[in-house]
Amino acid sequence: MFLRMLERGVAYRKTQVVNWDPVDRTVLANEQVIDGRGWRTGAVVEKREIPGYYLRITDYAQELLDRLDGMDGWPERVRTMQANWIGRSEGVRFAFTHDIRGTDGETSGRPIGDGRMYVFTTRADTIMGVTFCAVAAEHPLALHAAKSNPALAAFVDECRRGSVMEADLATMDKKGMPTGLFVTHPLTGERVAVWVGNYVLMGYGDGAVMGVPAHDERDFAFARKYALPIRQAVAVEGEAFSTDAWQPWYEDKQRCRCVNSGRYDGLDYKSAVDAIAADLAAKGLGEKKVTFRLRDWGVSRQRYWGTPIPIVHCASCGAVPVPDRDLPVVLPEDCVPDGSGNPLAKREDFLAVDCPQCGKPARRETDTLDTFVDSSWYYMRYACPDAPTMVDARNDYWMPMDQYIGGIEHAILHLLYARFWTKVMRDMGLVKFDEPFTRLLTQGMVLNHVWSRRNDRGGIDYFPPAEVTPVIGEGGRIAGGRLADGTTVEYGGVAKMSKSERNGVDPEELIAKYGADTARHFVMFASPPDATLEWSDAGVEGSYRFLRRLWTFAQGAKDTVAAASGFDPRKADGAVKAARRELHLTLRQANYDYERIQYNTVVSAGYKLLNALESLPKDARGAAALTREGLSILLRVLYPVVPHTAWTLWQELGYGSEHGDLLDAPWPEVDEGALVQDAIDLVLQVNGKLRGKLVVPATAGRDAIEAAARAAPEVAKHAAGAPVKKVVIVPGKLVNVVV
Ligand SMILES: [Zn+2]
Repeated sequence: MFLRMLERGVAYRKTQVVNWDPVDRTVLANEQVIDGRGWRTGAVVEKREIPGYYLRITDYAQELLDRLDGMDGWPERVRTMQANWIGRSEGVRFAFTHDIRGTDGETSGRPIGDGRMYVFTTRADTIMGVTFCAVAAEHPLALHAAKSNPALAAFVDECRRGSVMEADLATMDKKGMPTGLFVTHPLTGERVAVWVGNYVLMGYGDGAVMGVPAHDERDFAFARKYALPIRQAVAVEGEAFSTDAWQPWYEDKQRCRCVNSGRYDGLDYKSAVDAIAADLAAKGLGEKKVTFRLRDWGVSRQRYWGTPIPIVHCASCGAVPVPDRDLPVVLPEDCVPDGSGNPLAKREDFLAVDCPQCGKPARRETDTLDTFVDSSWYYMRYACPDAPTMVDARNDYWMPMDQYIGGIEHAILHLLYARFWTKVMRDMGLVKFDEPFTRLLTQGMVLNHVWSRRNDRGGIDYFPPAEVTPVIGEGGRIAGGRLADGTTVEYGGVAKMSKSERNGVDPEELIAKYGADTARHFVMFASPPDATLEWSDAGVEGSYRFLRRLWTFAQGAKDTVAAASGFDPRKADGAVKAARRELHLTLRQANYDYERIQYNTVVSAGYKLLNALESLPKDARGAAALTREGLSILLRVLYPVVPHTAWTLWQELGYGSEHGDLLDAPWPEVDEGALVQDAIDLVLQVNGKLRGKLVVPATAGRDAIEAAARAAPEVAKHAAGAPVKKVVIVPGKLVNVVV
């Protein structure tokens, strides 16, 4: 697949400034740097210039964005995160011209960048407000100026060590230094000073931005800090502009009109952008452009684990792909990483290979592929594990996946890569679908109490919640804790279960004490699967009590169930009929909740069903038959939650002989007839005050309800002989008699 991508230009090699994880000693993709730290090691990420392979995910940016619209089976939050990460923006790319000439090497004597410094902006309408430009530390103009300016050279070095993450840029202190160079404004011909700014990234766009302090909050702060001019270029009616302080309307593009902008004065945002783009195009200096925030996916990793990149480096032929007949390249299995970089680079038996092209001795590529490459399509292989090819037709049968479950932390990592990878496979004719996952559930984390204490060595010791007795303080809050030996520990609130904080719960212990059904029942009941779950021993006890109640009730109902087979529960009336309605309403809700993966309310339905059965009047006509029907519904509804208990009771109550094994039994069907209500309760008011209730047939019309209300004894009592003026009816809810 990688070689086919290489042939198609989807994969390519380039040298670029990358995120370097100094602990794992490897490159990380932007998505894998979280708050400036490596996603796996937590180490502060450095910038390095390293050659590596990239996948052209940017070619699919528009499609990845467009298709999000139709992905109704995905959480809105994940779709928004992906859309923001892809970051489409429409704007104008244009050039400031100059005649700054290089002093050495190839550029010697020639204008740098052919005399054009390109920028991209979504606010071309404010172009007449440009008072400076800022370039990245790696920009050719910055490097040129730094050669003759040691202070600037030091600043450029400082910037280059900084973060390459946008998130960090948003929060960090904005710093700059003038280059002493000037470029020419493409429309006014004015000289514009060029600064180096630590907030401009070479990897994004052209590594240069126009500075419009009057209409960009970041530029405003920068201009105030360095005493650069601030020039208003758009205005909003009724608002006063001042260079003293930033106001949010300065950036308002909905209401603004151009001012101080010559021939563009009076134009709104869209008209101004159109006119300015046209004028720049006429001068050959710019055009409208769509840009994306998404960068190509760097997949080279300097580590042992991961798929080897099938490339051989030959002194004469360069980078040569390993021929298909020699695939796969297999990693040595006895490598021991010693923490000093990629162990493959020290394995002569792996490194030494003949060049597939000229046959001379050559060296194998030691970089391996990001493991997110494998996770981009592993699920397809499950559909055809023995296929002699990458995938086969079975994959098209099973995919796309109906339901995928994964953490929100994968929103812009695995879940975006897999979508991209699928599209590349589709374009290569390997699959016939566009998207890999039809429905997505992002499961919540399990939280538990954290107990800790400082130790003599200055570190922190953690204690499992099972070893701590909480000490309750004021207001019922946990104030601290005590160990069995009487010493105290500090309470740290609840946090994600983790080995390091020792607050995990061992399911084995739980199963040994309560059985697996209790554990399942609690986990499913404690919260919906996409929310966080706070561990609670009391909750576990509650689940255990419910299962015992269910067991006891079912055992006690054995004879009733066996004897009741002759009566049709549909013929019941009164309380039994009402209970049957409750059972089928609850079943309908449980079915709906299973569909939308809200297992906690399915478990609630189990409680409701059991309550309804327990409170049946034992001797009423049809009660036994309904117990039989209701238990069969209850056991089937709860089977996925507590399979062992449900299966055993199913057998013991004799349902097996009627419906077959519980595993094969048909899902219970909602009897729509049972949902029809004979009588309904209406709130009865006299002059807007609650005076009682009115029971009427469910089918009663307005006239019948009014007649019943007029005849009600509560009305006679509270009207005290006054004539009824009118009767207000809110169908299904209340009747108000006005006297
Ligand atoms: Zn060669």
